[in-house]
Parts: sequence; structure tokens; C-alpha cells
Amino acid sequence: MPPPDTKPLAERLAGLIAATGPISLAQFMAEANAHYYATRDPFGVDGDFITAPEISQMFGELAGLWLADLWSQAGAPANAHYVELGPGRGTLAEDALRAMRAVRFEPPIHLVETSPVLRANQASRLPTARWHDDLDSLPDSGPLFVVANEFFDALPIRQIRRGADGWHEIMVDHRDGAFVPVASGPPLDALVPEPLRDAPPGSVIETSPAVESAAGAMASRIARQGGAALIIDYGYEGLATGDTLQAVSRHGHADIFAEPGERDLTAHVNFSVIERIGRNAGLAVHGPIGQGDWLESLGIGARTAALAKAAPHRQAELIAARDRLTKADEMGDLFKAMALVAPDWPAPAAF
Ligand code: SAH
Repeated sequence: MPPPDTKPLAERLAGLIAATGPISLAQFMAEANAHYYATRDPFGVDGDFITAPEISQMFGELAGLWLADLWSQAGAPANAHYVELGPGRGTLAEDALRAMRAVRFEPPIHLVETSPVLRANQASRLPTARWHDDLDSLPDSGPLFVVANEFFDALPIRQIRRGADGWHEIMVDHRDGAFVPVASGPPLDALVPEPLRDAPPGSVIETSPAVESAAGAMASRIARQGGAALIIDYGYEGLATGDTLQAVSRHGHADIFAEPGERDLTAHVNFSVIERIGRNAGLAVHGPIGQGDWLESLGIGARTAALAKAAPHRQAELIAARDRLTKADEMGDLFKAMALVAPDWPAPAAF
């Protein structure tokens, strides 16, 4: 067996480009994010960014109640599984499962996670969980209750940009010691959806084979096995142009191409793509709706009041967390919730 490649990622990617030419943006993003998540816990005030379950326990609890409500409406199937894609620190799962336990929904836990550092973190909160590299090894029978919060935005994207002579895929080259985006090869106009073909030069269209493949695997399992998926992320709907790729470091925007593997690279999720994949698999699709509306319908107001009553010294902190999760100028509108539900299953709450 060859020894593992221990060269820093930037050096390895530069070597690869020198040997074979520019690499796809998707490959650059996949390698950068795999390295980024494999080598750190990026969450929290001292990290690079903060996610909804890390802001307040209420987020995971309400997600858990949403799952438990659907499970009980579906006749409380005994062989159901909890599945989370990209569970981070395991905080959402811990809060959701605690809320579910209160109504006697205690399914086995399956975590799809590639980062060894985050797996260890998750194991400290969820010692009975089983881990999976991807969706292929999930159990083949029993309804799946899938949660994915800020998972799809971390998956690699492709970009096609309109130049003077048509649309070209964006590749990543290495020039004068820096990674730079470059337009590649012959124009790809035939790949561009008709209504977007005449967008002005400089326009960018994004696609994500990785999102489509994960959503496809998820949807076909739910169609076959029953259950539902709750997807929460920032994103948009419909055919659109726009460069949404961003790098985040220390709670601020950073250069996308500098220091690959040291910043979190994300792109906005196209909910219409996941919706189409869900419908093609025969699932009912609900939403997307704003995260704020979804949490309000599930009773985040009452939950905030109940927690504040039990711990009056935490009232200001609880209200600030609720506002951050729900207000339109914070996470309430940018983040969206969407549900995919198995055929002939009951309609979920709050959509
Ligand atoms: N859901 C968590 C974490 C979001 S960050 C939260 O809301 O706090 C993205 C998560 O997806 C991390 O756990 C990361 O390690 C994981 N991840 C990223 N790419 C992945 C991939 N291709 N397969 C599995 N997990 C992945």
C-alpha cells in the first residue's frame, strides 16, 4: 500500500494541476471541504461559523417534535430510524431525540458523516449511534426520518459562466503560486437551460451533481421504505443565475481560492432541484418556507416563554436566540425548510 499523502492540501492540488491541467471547481471544493471538516470542529463563537442548533436547543427540540408528530400520525411504526446528514457536533440530534423520547419515539440513530473529528464529537453526545460514509449503507427496511441542516450547502458545485463567446465551465488553475478560476474549453451552451442562455456576459449558473446524488438516494429510500426528510438550508428556488459560492472563516467572508481546506466553502442550495427529485421519486413535497415561519408554526414563541419561566435569568438570552432564528433580517427568511414525505403518508405539521 502506498503511504498516505501527507503533503498539505494546497501543495497536493498544485501538483495535481501541474501534472494534469486545471481541475473542476467541484473537485477543488470537494477536496477543500473534506480537508476542512476532517481536521477541526469549526462551530461556535471561537470557530468559523455558528449554525441554528448551536444557537439554541429550541431548534433541535422543535425539529424533534415535528418528526415525532409525523411518526405518531403515521401510526407510530416500530421499525423507524433517525437519520441525520452532516450532523456537526450532534447537537441537533441530541436535542431532537430528547424531545422525541418524551413522546416515546426512540429510534436507532444513523449519522452520515465523513469527518473523523466530528464523528468523535458526535459520539460523545450520541454513544449508541451508527456512522455511515454516505447513504448507501443505511438500513434497507423501516421508515427513515431524515434531517439535514446545513448539509447540502457544503456539497461541491459546478459553475458555468457566460463569456464573450458563450458559456464555459469554471475550472481551477494554479498560476504564480495562487489558485485562480479560469474558463475552460469549448462553449457548453447546449447544457444551459433555454431561458437562461441569453443572460448577460459574466452571469453564472450553478449545478451540483453531489446534491442531486444525495437527494436522489434519500428520496428513493423514503419512497421505498416510508418516512420523511426535513431539509433546512439557505437557498433559492427556480432557474436562476448567480455566483453563490462563498468562503467563511472566523465569522466573516474570506477568499474562496486562498488556503484550500482552511475555510468553509458553501453554495446556496437550489430547492427546486431537490423538489423535482422528490416528486420524480413519488414523494409529497412541502415548502420550502422560511425557517422563521416554520419555527413560529411549531410554537417557538411558547417554547421560549416556557424555558424563560423555568429559568428567568436566561430570559434575555432565550429571546435573543429566538429572534436570531426567526427574524426576517437574521436567519428567518434566508434559511428555508422543506419536507419530502413518503407516498400516502400524512401531511407534516407547520407547512
Ligand atoms: N448540521 C450541523 C453541521 C453543518 S456543517 C449543524 O447544523 O450544526 C456540515 C456538516 O456536513 C459537517 O458535519 C460536515 O462534516 C458534514 N459533511 C460535509 N460534507 C460531507 C459529505 N460529503 N458527506 C458527509 N458529511 C459531510
